[in-house]
Amino acid sequence: MLTLTGTAREPSHPRWTDTSPSAGMLEPVDFLVYAEASARLLNEDIDTLPQLRQFLADREWLLPQCVDRDIVALRRFRTELRPVFEAAQDGNTAAAISLLNDLMGRHPIRPRIADWEPEGLHLHVANTSSVSELLIGESLLGLATLVCSVGPNRFGVCAADSCTNVFVDASPNSSRRYCSDRCSSRANVAAFRARRRQEAAVS
Ligand SMILES: [Zn+2]
Repeated sequence: MLTLTGTAREPSHPRWTDTSPSAGMLEPVDFLVYAEASARLLNEDIDTLPQLRQFLADREWLLPQCVDRDIVALRRFRTELRPVFEAAQDGNTAAAISLLNDLMGRHPIRPRIADWEPEGLHLHVANTSSVSELLIGESLLGLATLVCSVGPNRFGVCAADSCTNVFVDASPNSSRRYCSDRCSSRANVAAFRARRRQEAAVS
């Protein structure tokens, strides 16, 4: 059984851990990092080279590789990727899986076993072509592994009015509905005010 233990920030810091009795040992995996980066691809502005470099600010070694055609490729991929999150949000898991399979057919992933981490071996996406293909490969590998490991209902679209952000659900009980604490608290305040108005109207 895979258990969520927090929000991953670095590919080298696993947060999903196999704790099933048959596991024998804890297995570090990176797919939540990649899946969350997939949501970031849709939530952040990446329409210019400076924005792409900002997106990759914590991966400085990639910055010199960023070129205009990465922006074009990522823009196209983002329009392909959003329906995956929307299908999952609608509970249409078969469509989400089908869309992911289509995307993996169109964007072949180049996996690579990395052996530099002291904790053990990691599956990474090889950086062999372009920054955009690397990000697309990581995004698809992350979502596909998420789906296969914990089910296809672990990502969706923010439930807050006027927010179009997507999210990966890392909550222990699969209860996430909002992209951020900010949207969650705004929705709570709105619901509270609506209840107050309703009570005032009844009394
Ligand atoms: Zn939101």
